[in-house]
Amino acid sequence: MNKVAALIPAAGDGLRLGRGPKALVEVAGETLLSRAVRAFAGAVDEILVAVSPVMMGGLEPHPGVRFLLGGDTRQGSVYNLLRETDADIVLIHDAARPFLGRRVIDDVITAVETHNAASVVTMVADTLIEAETGRVIERSTLRAVQTPQGFRRELILAAHEHALRSGCAATDDAGLVRILGHEVALVEGSSWLMKVTTRADLELAEALAAVWDAQC
Ligand code: C5P
Repeated sequence: MNKVAALIPAAGDGLRLGRGPKALVEVAGETLLSRAVRAFAGAVDEILVAVSPVMMGGLEPHPGVRFLLGGDTRQGSVYNLLRETDADIVLIHDAARPFLGRRVIDDVITAVETHNAASVVTMVADTLIEAETGRVIERSTLRAVQTPQGFRRELILAAHEHALRSGCAATDDAGLVRILGHEVALVEGSSWLMKVTTRADLELAEALAAVWDAQC
């Protein structure tokens, strides 16, 4: 049996939201971090969370969850998490996405077992343009990347170490794996995997939580 770890980068400062560390912002009475952690309970063998020094002091205990210090960037936080686990498969999930269901987690694990790397993506519904020229970008071949992304630990660790050596920066772990020449399987995501970035996203998440919490 593969050992599976959930790695949650949660060390962001949440500047765009303006409410202190974003992972500690509440949606319908529960922090984004707690929602992300709860999504993985019972679905994986261990859960590791990267937090900022500011957050470390004031954390509520989460049984079975290991907290460690993140880095200055998301990539740095993920790298710190990767070095702390010996799991065969890792699922990397942004704390900023509070509505993660079991179907997606299981689909990503299954895809990693076959393809070694998998990313949750969704179709792009809006028309896309280049801001300066107004040129419309064909959207049918495009996908928006969500999380979780899943990998064999050794593959994603090698990808991060290669990125560090070559000075590559990315907000997308799957992109680092592709640079090594590996394919990444695409798993169907959904609008539920929205990322809370702005105040409007937070208002939307508050409204969505009423439906989500009633069904989970
Ligand atoms: O800022 P953004 O929402 O894109 O960050 C995505 C995720 O990466 C968030 O869950 C955030 O807490 C995390 N992050 C991190 N360490 C950083 C910056 C962001 O763990 N230095």
